Amino acid sequence: MRQHFDFIILGSGIAGLSCALQLANHGSVAVLTKKESAESNTNYAQGGIASVVSPDDHLESHIRDTLEAGAGLCHEAVVSKVVSDGPFVVQELIEFGVEFSRGQGGDFDLGREGGHSQRRVLHAGDFTGQVIEKALLQSVKSHSNIQILEHHFAIDLITTRKLGIEEKEPNRCLGAYVLDVRNRKVLTFTAGATVLATGGAGKVYLYTSNPDIATGDGLAMAWRAGAKVANLEFVQFHPTCLYHPQAKSFLISEALRGEGGVLKLRNGESFMERYDPRRELAPRDIVARAIDHELKKSGEDYVLLDMSHLPADYLQERFPNIGEALLRFGCDFTKEPIPVVPAAHYMCGGVMVDDKAETSLRNLFACGEVTFTGLHGGNRLASNSLLEAVVYANIAAREAPERLGGPPPNFEIPEWSSGHAADSDEAVVIKQNWDEIRSFMWNYVGIVRTNKRLHRAKKRIELLLEEIKEYYWNTVVSPDLLELRNIACVADLIIQSALWRKESRGLHYNLDYPSQSEMYRRDTILAP
Ligand SMILES: Cc1cc2nc3c(=O)[nH]c(=O)nc-3n(C[C@H](O)[C@H](O)[C@H](O)COP(=O)(O)OP(=O)(O)OC[C@H]3O[C@@H](n4cnc5c(N)ncnc54)[C@H](O)[C@@H]3O)c2cc1C
Repeated sequence: MRQHFDFIILGSGIAGLSCALQLANHGSVAVLTKKESAESNTNYAQGGIASVVSPDDHLESHIRDTLEAGAGLCHEAVVSKVVSDGPFVVQELIEFGVEFSRGQGGDFDLGREGGHSQRRVLHAGDFTGQVIEKALLQSVKSHSNIQILEHHFAIDLITTRKLGIEEKEPNRCLGAYVLDVRNRKVLTFTAGATVLATGGAGKVYLYTSNPDIATGDGLAMAWRAGAKVANLEFVQFHPTCLYHPQAKSFLISEALRGEGGVLKLRNGESFMERYDPRRELAPRDIVARAIDHELKKSGEDYVLLDMSHLPADYLQERFPNIGEALLRFGCDFTKEPIPVVPAAHYMCGGVMVDDKAETSLRNLFACGEVTFTGLHGGNRLASNSLLEAVVYANIAAREAPERLGGPPPNFEIPEWSSGHAADSDEAVVIKQNWDEIRSFMWNYVGIVRTNKRLHRAKKRIELLLEEIKEYYWNTVVSPDLLELRNIACVADLIIQSALWRKESRGLHYNLDYPSQSEMYRRDTILAP
């Protein structure tokens, strides 16, 4: 049975929810999300959202910092648009019920993070993402035009090209096939416009700060449907995730370094002064590479982040979430240093969108971490992603209603069929392939790359893609299998992009080409 909405939005993080709230003024909206509605990268964001809200700060300064972090690849018009919309976005979030932390005089308590020349990060304690997610979900749930469908896993986009429908427009998105996970049924959703807001792909790597949902599904779906993607070699590794056997992906926010945290080797010696005059506040790629280098040199598994010289009361008040979580893992950060390692954190590249937030596939819009807008260039400035997500959600919500009008598509859309596929009794195959991909991506396509390692990764992913293709069509779809297919697709695209860029720039560092080359001062665009 086909279900039709004016708009379907895939994903319920900050991008999907912000977009839903705006689109609901123009028609019916379904927000489809693969797990519980709050489960998203957004929910784990700690540091905050960057914006110029202080009279001591200037838009030009935020623009300059963003461009500098981006290593020559930012699209200046996009940077200017996103930064200028910042104060408006902050106000909008406040109107949706987000309460940012304020100092005693009532002004915003602004945090400072690496690469920012000013204190300009609005935060809600160190629970910023959770506070935003909760406020937006509450507004969405009380809106009569929006339906949230949890445990609805988007499998693939439905396009005119795939259906063999000939139109003036070469390829158009009509909706998506979606697995209703609880009822084990594949449903057909059609819409006037579809919005991808499926977030990032940290789970492509063995170590990541991202929660389990971040398997690059939107990116892989868009690619399979024929949309262009860009700059996927620029993967941001967060320098500091907690190193502990039981901590799956616990991030130690950059804000700790912003407030005076010092990185040290296990023998207590500090080392950042040897890498950058900005020391702990150098951009993340520099800090992550410095740690990677020190770890490779010493053979140790982790370095230390020391906060113990700061007053305990202050630390407890400023970082209650982190402090509590660390205590659960047996570390009192007011008294002892925190063991940390770098981990895959953020995808700067993604599905290409234009200034209308539309992808190269008509009627398919995108916002949030799944996109490549041109904002981040070769490296993302801390706390610019939540901002970008809302700015592009607003743009998508302004433009997508233009695609309404006329009757809902009345083409024959075949129901999903998995042919003779059978339930698999070999879950071990999925787990094995999954572990293999994440492990070679970490070792060969990680913080420091070489041609040899990238070619090794390429050989392995080609083999696995073949295996997965065969397995996929003979097995009934399940979330694990779908995610495996998607991380394999994203891994392949990251490897292709990394091989294309024969230089080191921003987050992409290849020992065989250690410097920047003017020839490569352009985006890595892949078209299916
Ligand atoms: C630990 C951590 C800390 C961070 N801290 C900051 C910070 O301080 N400041 C900052 O600016 N950024 C921060 N970031 C990055 C920022 O949180 C993300 O870039 C941003 O939240 C992405 O929002 P989004 O809406 O695009 O995606 P998400 O919030 O990840 O939401 C994606 C949604 O899509 C759903 N989904 C995915 N695939 C499917 C599918 N196939 N079918 C249906 N639904 C699907 C997911 O379930 C989820 O609901 C942090 C990230 C992490 C992981």
